Amino acid sequence: MDLFEYQARDLFAKHEVPVLPGEVVDTPEAARAATERLGGKAVVKAQVKVGGRGKAGGVKLAFSPDEAVERATDILGMDIKGHTVHKVMLAGLGEIAEEYYVSFLLDRTNRTFLAMASVEGGVEIEVVAEENPDALAKIAVDAIEGVTEAKAREIVEAAKFPAELHDQLVDVLQRLWTVFVAEDATLVEVNPLIKSGEGKIIALDGKVTLDENADFRHADHAALEDKDSADPLEAAAKAKGLNYVKLDGEVGIIGNGAGLVMSTLDVVAYAGENHSNVKPANFLDIGGGASAEVMANGLEIILGDPAVKSVFVNVFGGITACDAVANGIVQALALLESKGEAVTKPLVVRLDGNNAELGRQILTDANHPLVEQVDTMDGAADRAAELAAAK
Ligand code: GDP
Ligand code: MN
Repeated sequence: MDLFEYQARDLFAKHEVPVLPGEVVDTPEAARAATERLGGKAVVKAQVKVGGRGKAGGVKLAFSPDEAVERATDILGMDIKGHTVHKVMLAGLGEIAEEYYVSFLLDRTNRTFLAMASVEGGVEIEVVAEENPDALAKIAVDAIEGVTEAKAREIVEAAKFPAELHDQLVDVLQRLWTVFVAEDATLVEVNPLIKSGEGKIIALDGKVTLDENADFRHADHAALEDKDSADPLEAAAKAKGLNYVKLDGEVGIIGNGAGLVMSTLDVVAYAGENHSNVKPANFLDIGGGASAEVMANGLEIILGDPAVKSVFVNVFGGITACDAVANGIVQALALLESKGEAVTKPLVVRLDGNNAELGRQILTDANHPLVEQVDTMDGAADRAAELAAAK
């Protein structure tokens, strides 16, 4: 999960990384009060989960509360690289002498953690890495040892920071590492990390990605989720415990097992090339023990997507045999109809594996007008794509 800058800033503050005072608001009027509390001047910063806000006009200085209202009016509602600005952060106006860059991240290729640091901060670090790679120090960080004082010093020296800042930077780097470990982050990036007018090191912008696999040990992280921009179908699916991802196409997909669903997406996209280029509308893995209720929940989510024109149910019977899945489908359709959610979109079902014959017989006997069976995965994908294209 990527965090907003203000959330990253809160985590920094919690672990005593030096930051400027700040408040997040969602109306221009609230920006006035916040700016007054900040001493009458502030920087107004768009809160969107994308970089380059400064260049896009999403970071503006305000030298009075009135100006803060004007800048907040400009920035709220702005579109930055496809992200609508719903909130702005008002932060204390920092006087910037120098802009640096530091980050900790997971280095998957080398199976370790990595520290990156540069005296050329403030600009996009990808540009520095490309045009002046020597200016970007990269130091591996051992997962067990972490960023000790010696490791922090190694990073600071490799990046050629001015000597008089070394002690401060060593301290700040260790605190940032604490954020990385204590919060189970996969990325902690500060750009710019500034030297202020008084020579103080301050984290002016923060980007943090949290590892959702570690959510179980961070009850407080659930509150960081961005409910405003979550896809409503994905949110509903999450509430029901389903592994669902919304995609752009027209063919709804339900399968059991992540691998099978992934290949179903490929097969449907391929079949779609012969049928007006229809594409998969979602990823949905109902997992091993697909009960009627799970099937009904899955169908409800997928049929609730207005973009869906047909549904492909692709099941390979294993521990849960095909007859149980077939009964699940029949009961799910009855369940939805009894809830008044009439099913109006065609379903193509392919059952194979354990008890496939029995499962197919159950669906044949149920004789639902919208359910069609096709024996092969390719054939079923083609039929589902054809039905979607015909709508
Ligand atoms: P980004 O463009 O999305 O990375 O947003 P940043 O938070 O990094 O801000 C972009 C630039 O705005 C920074 O590199 C600074 O030059 C400038 N900036 C941000 N905050 C302040 C501030 O408090 N005072 C001043 N003078 N400039 C700021
Ligand atoms: Mn930045």
